[in-house]
Amino acid sequence: MITSHLGFPRIGEQREWKKALEQFWAGKWDESEFRFEMERIQQRHLMESVQGGIDLIPVGDFTYYDHMLDMAVMFGMVPKRFGHPGGAVTLDTYFAMARGNEQATACEMTKWMNTNYHYLVPEIGEGEPYLAENKPLQAYRFAKARAGVEGKPVIVGLYSFLKLSKGYAADSFSQKISSFLPVYVEMLRQLEAEGVKWVQIDEPCLVWESSVADQAYVREIYEAIATQVPGIQVMLQTYFEAVDNLHDLLQLPVHGVGLDFIHDRGVHLQALKEIAWPQDKWLGAGLIDGRNIWRADLTEKLKWIETICNHVPKDKVILQPSCSLLHVPVTTRNEDALEPMIQGALAGAREKLQELNILRDACNKGTSSVEKPLWESKEALQQFRSLAGRHRPDTAAELAGLDVRHVTRSASFAVRHRLQAEKWQLPTLPTTTIGSFPQTPEVRRARRLWRKGEWRDDQYEAFVNEQIEACIRTQEEIGLDVLVHGEFERTDMVEFFGEKLAGFVFTKNGWVQSYGSRCVKPPIIYGDVAFTEAMTVKETQFAQSITSRPVKGMLTGPVTILNWSFVRNDLSSEQVANQIALALRKEVEALEANGIEMIQVDEPALREGLPLKASRQELYLEWAVRAFRLVTSVVRDTTQIHTHMCYCDFHDMIPSIEALDADVISIETSRSHGELIEHFETYAYKLGIGLGVYDIHSPRVPEVKEMTAMINRALQLLNPRLFWINPDCGLKTRGWPETIEALKHMVEAAHQARAEL
Ligand code: GLN
Ligand code: ZN
Repeated sequence: MITSHLGFPRIGEQREWKKALEQFWAGKWDESEFRFEMERIQQRHLMESVQGGIDLIPVGDFTYYDHMLDMAVMFGMVPKRFGHPGGAVTLDTYFAMARGNEQATACEMTKWMNTNYHYLVPEIGEGEPYLAENKPLQAYRFAKARAGVEGKPVIVGLYSFLKLSKGYAADSFSQKISSFLPVYVEMLRQLEAEGVKWVQIDEPCLVWESSVADQAYVREIYEAIATQVPGIQVMLQTYFEAVDNLHDLLQLPVHGVGLDFIHDRGVHLQALKEIAWPQDKWLGAGLIDGRNIWRADLTEKLKWIETICNHVPKDKVILQPSCSLLHVPVTTRNEDALEPMIQGALAGAREKLQELNILRDACNKGTSSVEKPLWESKEALQQFRSLAGRHRPDTAAELAGLDVRHVTRSASFAVRHRLQAEKWQLPTLPTTTIGSFPQTPEVRRARRLWRKGEWRDDQYEAFVNEQIEACIRTQEEIGLDVLVHGEFERTDMVEFFGEKLAGFVFTKNGWVQSYGSRCVKPPIIYGDVAFTEAMTVKETQFAQSITSRPVKGMLTGPVTILNWSFVRNDLSSEQVANQIALALRKEVEALEANGIEMIQVDEPALREGLPLKASRQELYLEWAVRAFRLVTSVVRDTTQIHTHMCYCDFHDMIPSIEALDADVISIETSRSHGELIEHFETYAYKLGIGLGVYDIHSPRVPEVKEMTAMINRALQLLNPRLFWINPDCGLKTRGWPETIEALKHMVEAAHQARAEL
């Protein structure tokens, strides 16, 4: 049995990769300095696998930005607007595609399958593909020369590459295969000529439900590769879900199939028992979770391996993570500020490689050869499992006592709408914002000083209150109808709540790449989540105390907190979402009890947990919606629940959005060119809705007439009595001057629109 992996984090242990990119983009390094540093990082990246004792080491998983962009560029797929003359793509053009420049907007970025990694969407235009450069070959040569590694090039499969690209009509998919396939084969032939033995071809899209036509395309691609590049062994790699038609997949002329045994709900082990594994085929057994931060239960994994080996020849099994380790931090070994029992249960990429080796040695040389590491692992997990904060009997009991009444408001929207109109006496087309106001360097500095202990709590609190007061006065002067406190006390909308709820811990250096050089440090939900103290009452109540206008309280919703964290793996996502929801419900109660009777519960990440298989999506949406309603259904009829979502591709989810039963939703529309309004109209959305009338992602201040145009257009379709006017997202990344000016324009636009009603 041998070990391999599918890719290692690119960012480096100290995020040196990010720093190198940013130095270069800032013009502080020239291209040769940048390339020199990148090669050093790439070499270090390879050495992680070498020193980690991995048998079959991937190459080409490293990139200067994103692996899909690399593929696009390799095939010369540079959109016309970048003025690329043909041939190999320069570094400037490469980064212009990623980030945009003065002449051309960047390529679109979107989520990589169901992860929080974002890739650049290749634009497959009219131009014919050609082999602009052979990136896998370069990576293979680099690894051989710089680390003595006989690498396994990692390449995105042609089927998934095209499925995840845009710019062609759906009915020309087969034409696209015909035009790309010869170039793809040529790339592989060059690898073959170089003496490459294995390639890993990633086909994550094979876990979607596929049509008969799709299956034929896949066969066409892999048959062409097998006949034209016979000297190379192909590991056809899938991940993130179960493959439904394993039997058919195994009929493809490839040398191995890689499966995810972690996110397959047990489907693959079961399938192995039911089908006859072709004895000449390799199995890439994804046994270690490549997406979560937990140490593996090696005893359990050894049992899985035993089952696997009842069906697959032992010398044809490759032990590997379930997917690229891109989605986890490089290491958790240095997280010594954590409670040791929690730290002991964590594993970053480096630790996951070690786990693979332990499993391999246990299988090849017997468990006695790895007695000590096996024992250590078992011990660590046992200690962790018995940790007090893991199981809170109160939480379990409270959740068990819930029923439909806890997730249903006491009156229908129609009744609430009337009662709320009486209570609040707002003008038609009320104006508000999404929550945050500019986080200036001054605000960030104050927080830093306080966190370092240089500022006392009361000093920091006074500072935050000053910010809130100034923010309230500004909103009053602008003439907004519903105010917010500004979120100055929050760095991040998930971290802020995680720090105050039981069940969360935070790492010092647990960064993972989100897109390009942007990294995030997800909180870790290790135990039962519970409410311990009011989290937002103090600031919101202070804001309300200094103004006669309503102040809207501001919470992050349970599904967003869940989807942006590393979550414990012994409970279902639904169970954890309910725990978070129960805790937030108490916060809602506390706000209401303290006179805050408009409360916004943000769910920007609702869509992010959507399962890859269409057949599983409904179930997810059902429990996600229920978790949201558990938070919000506790309030009086007159208390107004708002929610906010900030990406525009919600069109297929409108019934679920409506099922949230929020009195008002504010939603981003400025970047969806009005399509979203139409979707809401077609659906005849019946609740309160605020459509973002300007794009906060740019410092540009839009004219009043641009906003009135947006409003008028929406009012042709939507009921003016349910319509709100707001920017399309929080303002924390903006500066004050442009914020004030834009909001003044927005209020003016609202006045004009009201006058015309
Ligand atoms: N209330 C948050 C803010 O205004 C919402 C952020 C978001 O939508 N991502 O910043
Ligand atoms: Zn938003």
